Amino acid sequence: MSIAERAIVTLEGLQSLFEVLQRRGYRVIGPTRRNAAIVYEDISDIADLPKGWTDEQDGGHYRLKKRDDEALFGYAVGPHSWKQFLHPPVLPLWRAEKRDQEFDIMRRSESPPRFAFVGMRSCELHAVAIQDCVFLGGPYIDFHYRARRDGAFLVAVNCGQAGGTCFCVSMDAGPKIKSGFDLALTEIVTSERHVFLLEVGTEPGAQVLAEIPHEPAQDGDIAQAEVIHARAAASMGRAMDTDGIKELLLGNLEHRRWDDVAKRCLTCANCTMVCPTCFCTAVEDASDVSGKVATRSRRWDSCFTMDFSYIHGGSVRSSAKSRYRQWMTHKLATWFDQFGTSGCVGCGRCITWCPVGIDITEEVRAIRSSATR
Ligand code: SF4
Ligand code: SF4
Repeated sequence: MSIAERAIVTLEGLQSLFEVLQRRGYRVIGPTRRNAAIVYEDISDIADLPKGWTDEQDGGHYRLKKRDDEALFGYAVGPHSWKQFLHPPVLPLWRAEKRDQEFDIMRRSESPPRFAFVGMRSCELHAVAIQDCVFLGGPYIDFHYRARRDGAFLVAVNCGQAGGTCFCVSMDAGPKIKSGFDLALTEIVTSERHVFLLEVGTEPGAQVLAEIPHEPAQDGDIAQAEVIHARAAASMGRAMDTDGIKELLLGNLEHRRWDDVAKRCLTCANCTMVCPTCFCTAVEDASDVSGKVATRSRRWDSCFTMDFSYIHGGSVRSSAKSRYRQWMTHKLATWFDQFGTSGCVGCGRCITWCPVGIDITEEVRAIRSSATR
């Protein structure tokens, strides 16, 4: 097999993929059902996948429900993203221990595992590409991120249906997987068969496929997969008109809609925690009660907190209005100046996991419908 070639893999072949990845020393992470949600965790077997489950999503609403088939990847995206593995929520940086009158400072010299991520969606591959740009693309490289990202093996899965809050078509980030993967699967479930059309994206992907049982894909298999991709594209739960969006938002910084959304926003920061592209952090120092141990760690932070913009004399963004406006204009406007792309891939998580159901697509629509410039 070589790059861009396609093969058909059965359920046994998918199980074999897990075994090959483990044999090659990867820590395999994939979707599984826990606490009434589909989350990303260590998995070792296709039995760990959420067989026969799908998710129902809307603003502030997420429920799992049974499908009428046994699809393994028949859901959209859940509260987790792959960000938690490449850019951990809490990262210990160093620890100091008092010895007599001196301190020993121990830097964290961890070798992260080699991850194999199974089940990445197109929007999630785009989100990883955005974080690559943030952490690896500038003059300052984040070596913690690089250590995790360098050895990662990415097994993507095309969506067979969109979630109720998805709008990746509007953001040109899906649902069809185009690049950035080692292997990409399309799950084909009918009354006659349950197989996967597998596309090779890289040389390491071709080497892994060579070790698992497969057959060459036929034209009919490829046509069947294309129908599935088109069905997902046609079933987006949301849409966003992105035409001139940077100018629209930056030209309407005093629009009355910012006051309206501020009355609803709890500034809880959920949207930034679930967002696969948000990357801000704070550095925290702590010491134990004995005064003998001190630690420094990095943890996810959010532009929705008061502390995030605290400088001498107070917080620059003290109101909910200014914090929501900062988040949305960064995602959809100033991110282009900083990184050359949008900061949003249309995954819909910020809509689903907002406790009051604030919807970024609706906020853009409201501003556009009564823009002053
Ligand atoms: S928009 Fe929603 S999720 Fe985000 S901070 Fe406000 S209330 Fe929380
Ligand atoms: S802003 Fe919302 S829809 Fe866009 S990538 Fe982040 S969580 Fe997904």
